Amino acid sequence: MNDSVKNIAVLGATGSIGRQTLDIIASHPERYRAVVLTAGSKVDKLIEAALVHRPRRVVIGQTALLPELEAALSPLGIECAAGDEALAECVDADDVDIVVTATVGYSGLMPTVRAIKGGKDIALANKETLVVAGEMINRMLSQSDSKIYPVDSEHSAIAQCLAGEDMSRVRRLLITASGGPFRTWSAERMAVATAADALKHPNWSMGRKITIDSATMMNKAFEIIEAHYLFGVEPSRIEAVVHPQSIVHSMVEFVDGAVKAQMGLPDMHLPIAYALGCHARLDGASGHMSLTDYSNLTFEAPDTDRFPCLALAKTALERRGNTACVINAANEVAVAEFLDGTIRFGQIYDVIERTLASVPFVAVPEFDDYVASNAEARAKAAEVIKSLN
Ligand code: NAD
Ligand code: MG
Repeated sequence: MNDSVKNIAVLGATGSIGRQTLDIIASHPERYRAVVLTAGSKVDKLIEAALVHRPRRVVIGQTALLPELEAALSPLGIECAAGDEALAECVDADDVDIVVTATVGYSGLMPTVRAIKGGKDIALANKETLVVAGEMINRMLSQSDSKIYPVDSEHSAIAQCLAGEDMSRVRRLLITASGGPFRTWSAERMAVATAADALKHPNWSMGRKITIDSATMMNKAFEIIEAHYLFGVEPSRIEAVVHPQSIVHSMVEFVDGAVKAQMGLPDMHLPIAYALGCHARLDGASGHMSLTDYSNLTFEAPDTDRFPCLALAKTALERRGNTACVINAANEVAVAEFLDGTIRFGQIYDVIERTLASVPFVAVPEFDDYVASNAEARAKAAEVIKSLN
């Protein structure tokens, strides 16, 4: 084991994953030090975290908030910066060993690309990076010393099940899904569900965007795409299974019929710690689980009629090119408008479907094509939403 202290850049330090990452760093000063913290707009929370962790540098997305950040932190010798370029550039400094990508949506792509170019290890929470540009990211990884360690609990579970195994002996990846708050709701009731209904996740406390993605099961579609790019398993051998208790975090079936599962409490500290440790286990990362408290673990087939977003994983991985990038962009716009009350829950899928039908297909996208497809899909999605109202 390497006993030197690892320097961490936490991107999205004020969010759900970012704060849990900082918990682990604070509990293990002998292993980890936060050297860079970033946030989108929550300047007060970023200042609070910086006062505790004393990083070398902090970056805020919104440039108008830089003076406030500087007033609080510059006197302490903490470098302050703002804007998109600073958010991406802060990851490739020489003193950064591991980059935790815990920002939401497309914003994760640029810093991840920079981290790969800089040869950094990446604890990847931002699954949207692999959804948007999985092919390109894998090409880049093959030419870099950089490695991706998944933070997503399902992918961490799969990585744990695959430890010591031969990939050619894998039959299927089984990705568990809680089913979200609408697992037992009728399609009619779901169509008009409110944001407050959709934000009530039964098992996990997460940021607002991923919580809505869990309610539509778009999150599970994204996780199938993520698993394909992380583990190189073809889409026909990756399945989602609904497991309402969120105790089995995912499973791998092997050619001899054996199924390995990773179980644990629904607590992101464990997968975050496993990623930060580059797949080494950390004492007490999560609490003790008593199996007798969970005597009723159940599994169900997912219902793509009520959750059409789930089927978009298949569409994306069959068509490839910029398809998933367009789906992701349309979803981000639709989710934001749903949270603002502009569209109904049932319309999130319609916005994605119509946007996908109207943005030109690009078969082999390069970086600039992803940027262009993302921008075009956002504009189209906004048009579709206007036409709905
Ligand atoms: P969150 O909304 O709680 O936090 C997001 C963080 O990113 C905040 O610090 C915010 O300031 C920052 N941010 C938002 N937009 C930004 C932008 N445009 N530029 C720079 N920074 C920006 O989100 P979260 O729940 O922590 O999720 C973060 C990522 O992790 C997502 O990709 C999500 O899918 C993934 N993830 C989360 C969980 C979870 O339990 N929360 C589990 C698995 C995967
Ligand atoms: Mg997950």
